[in-house]
Amino acid sequence: MALLHNLGFPRIGSQRELKFALERFWRGEASPAELQSTAADLRKAHWQLQSQLDLVPVGDFSLYDQILDMSFTLGNLPDRVTRLEGSELDNYFRVARGRSVNESSLTCVHAGEMTKWFDTNYHYIVPEVTEETAFNLNPERLLSQFSEAQQQGLNAKPVIIGPVTYLWLCKEKDQSQRLQLLDKLLPAYQLLLDKLVDAGAEWVQIDEPALVMDLERDWQQAYEKAYALLSKSRAQLLLSTYFGELRDNLQLAVNLPVAGLHFDAVRGLDEVDLLCTTLPEEKVLSLGVIDGRNIWKTDLNAVLNWLEPIAQQLQDRLWIAPSCSLLHVPVDLDQETDFDPEVINWLAFAKQKLAELSLLGTAINKGRAAVAEALENNNQAIQSRKSSQRVHKPEVKAAVDCITAALGKRQSSYKKRAELQSALLNLPAYPTTTIGSFPQTAEIRKARLQHKKGRLSEERYIELMEAEIKRAVDEQEKLGLDVLVHGEAERNDMVEYFGQQLDGYVFSQFGWVQSYGSRCVKPPILFGDISRPEPMTVRWTSYAKSLTDKPMKGMLTGPVTILNWSFVRDDQPRRESSLQLALAIRDEVLDLEAAGVDVIQIDEAALREGLPLRQGDWTTYLDWAVECFRITANGVKDATQIHTHMCYSEFNDIIDSIAQMDADVITIETSRSDMELLDVFEEYEYPNEIGPGVYDIHSPNIPPVEQMVKLMQRAAERIPAERLWVNPDCGLKTRNWDEVIPALKNMVTAAERLRGAS
Ligand code: GLN
Ligand code: ZN
Repeated sequence: MALLHNLGFPRIGSQRELKFALERFWRGEASPAELQSTAADLRKAHWQLQSQLDLVPVGDFSLYDQILDMSFTLGNLPDRVTRLEGSELDNYFRVARGRSVNESSLTCVHAGEMTKWFDTNYHYIVPEVTEETAFNLNPERLLSQFSEAQQQGLNAKPVIIGPVTYLWLCKEKDQSQRLQLLDKLLPAYQLLLDKLVDAGAEWVQIDEPALVMDLERDWQQAYEKAYALLSKSRAQLLLSTYFGELRDNLQLAVNLPVAGLHFDAVRGLDEVDLLCTTLPEEKVLSLGVIDGRNIWKTDLNAVLNWLEPIAQQLQDRLWIAPSCSLLHVPVDLDQETDFDPEVINWLAFAKQKLAELSLLGTAINKGRAAVAEALENNNQAIQSRKSSQRVHKPEVKAAVDCITAALGKRQSSYKKRAELQSALLNLPAYPTTTIGSFPQTAEIRKARLQHKKGRLSEERYIELMEAEIKRAVDEQEKLGLDVLVHGEAERNDMVEYFGQQLDGYVFSQFGWVQSYGSRCVKPPILFGDISRPEPMTVRWTSYAKSLTDKPMKGMLTGPVTILNWSFVRDDQPRRESSLQLALAIRDEVLDLEAAGVDVIQIDEAALREGLPLRQGDWTTYLDWAVECFRITANGVKDATQIHTHMCYSEFNDIIDSIAQMDADVITIETSRSDMELLDVFEEYEYPNEIGPGVYDIHSPNIPPVEQMVKLMQRAAERIPAERLWVNPDCGLKTRNWDEVIPALKNMVTAAERLRGAS
């Protein structure tokens, strides 16, 4: 009998109950007990949904972040909070977000750094370590949730982050080496496992996703050492890897002395056979056969075709599960009342994925005949997606087939273009501009909502948006900026806005996925071949352009960013989807140019996010990502100036690709790093123009003129002044006008000073 289990469930709640409870608590409107009771209700509801499984995960729930939870379990908190008064919950939120309830900006401490969890869009709180770090087990949270689950009659399986992955995720705050802490760390894990066994746990899921990364020899040895020790525990360990193949860590993983291994058989399907033949005979093999990273229905018959022989071979040693925690998909498709009826039949969110798992389990354990009807329904859904004319459009595929290298090539070199652009635009030295959005005021959001609900006519909505655009243009004129923007008033989100106007996209009402803490995102769903029925931005940009004699920059989101922030197709390579997007946005670029827009910015905010986990795979990704950008951007005339913007500035390892994009101007996020990150642009001799963000838009503070002048002077030490632009770090939509105007005024003054000085 194959055993069924799950690795983790989304905790935010189908109605984002956790988000709202947290935010009430942080505002001081709910007590700790009320927050904990919502949390317990959610755990109960989620366990209920999983109760048909043989083993149910416990400890995957978190009030903010599971890595932060593990840091608390291990007693690894930064000194800056252990000294403070208050409860453990106060300290928890201090590390999570810099402050607990009712703490003002005066008393706040700096929050733990947040970074992306492997290649997902989930962000965890980076544990901090120093040479002095000691670990002090605090198992209470886990033990109490374990007993909570037991009381509810569940067969509970505690879930923890394994010691090597935990250290891998840590960041040293001094000169120490985090791996040196392993000896100090392991006793805490031994103790924890003992406590769990004493509480009645048989199996413990110990997550070690670092095994799918490139590991140096010392990290591989750390695995051997750690598990040699932990194998002495009475707990049966299910060592869990996910998000990729094991490759050069495969032998290591199969030979660690644990009772079972979980493996992501969606992303690592090609390694399954090897795993089956090399895994020692006494071990359980848990195969993650349902995609925990995407929202498509599983082709159950196809999975059974390859899984049945393995089940025959492994018998009781086979477990089946989703590929990874379901944290990365929305909770429940059944809530969607307003969904495209054809497409909804192709999807599965977390709850539906559990049902798929049960079905597969029955088919494996009792034979397909026991669930023949359900399998047939699944098959019909899969076939209807495969043959749908809304998914497959010959004309789109033909257009992609016709792509040639010439499509991604500008007519002339940057040098020649720059001359023509400079003659046309007539900009001063150190030209000033912004990244695109201006404040999304309450009125704008209200108008958008009313319009969406049909309570505001199209005409009136357009009038209101045009009034906002006019306001933004007038303000920019008054400020004396050089290259203006329309302000993006009409856009809710830089990806959704385009997705909604492209054929091939659908949107859910409640498809929320946790991004960090209480913040959720609702990624658009790219389901079919992409086409652009009509221009998307031209009317707004043209209107803005008609209001000024200054150059007006048209604003678009690039194909790679649209792709990286969507749920994407699993029936074709990402490159293919991206090329389709590139052709659609290219048409928009050309329409803007035809409408007389001489400066066009194509944001690739998320290009870096798409980098594969293994460095050996980077070139392939970067090659097609750059290819897509070039196809989008480079069909314009020499005199048209192409900008791109990226929300980061670590370019050391990808500078070559950034240069190959061949944008005339790139604006990036640098103000917080004191321009040091620009070194790479100097060493590499980046050939085109750069706008290193001179102030941090994430902060409400007004940047002083002096500070921005200094930053730009530092930039000018690295990049010739004639190729520098002056601009903020990112878009201004989250700020209000009272912050934006004085900040930009100072920025323009700073540019004037720089011109005077040069
Ligand atoms: N043009 C977008 C804006 O200004 C860019 C946002 C981003 O980089 N994330 O809002
Ligand atoms: Zn940005």
